[in-house]
Amino acid sequence: MEEPLKQVFVPVVATPGGEKTQLGVFSTEQDAWDVMRAFLSRAGSTNVVSGSIVAWEIDYVGEEGSLELAAFDRTNCPVCDELTFWVEGEEEKARCYYPRCGAWIEQNAYDPSRWDCGWPAANWDKRAEDYQHAFKGLVAMRAQSTSAGMTDRMPSREAWLDEKDRERRTIQQKKFDAMSDEMTE
Ligand SMILES: [Zn+2]
Repeated sequence: MEEPLKQVFVPVVATPGGEKTQLGVFSTEQDAWDVMRAFLSRAGSTNVVSGSIVAWEIDYVGEEGSLELAAFDRTNCPVCDELTFWVEGEEEKARCYYPRCGAWIEQNAYDPSRWDCGWPAANWDKRAEDYQHAFKGLVAMRAQSTSAGMTDRMPSREAWLDEKDRERRTIQQKKFDAMSDEMTE
């Protein structure tokens, strides 16, 4: 027999004025997270500035039937400068959802005294001692990509990201060509 449902999980997003929109009601926390992440990845065109995942007790009498499990705040990305950088909780984790950037900050899973940050678009990772240093690490990565030596070849960060994008597409295209060659031979 299945366990009776005791809690439901509700991802909620809010605009600067505090107007809230529920994204659904789920029986598992994982589903609520999946829906929230999917929303954040498309949030670029919305004016949503914050989000949270709330657990609600079922058949609970009283005012304290809900508990906020996670909160998200939107800010400018230290790398690509798009308004797609979402900070989780009190700076516990952060990620840029701009598809061509993906910069992130996270506490190391095995060593809590260590923080990691990265910029997948450039294949860069760094370690840091805390969130603030990790954030500075991302700013430094961006500075490096636009610094003297590289600016000759890459006039702007945007152009540089475009370049990376093109490289990736070229690789994909080559794989595809190789595959179709095999198929037609
Ligand atoms: Zn970014």
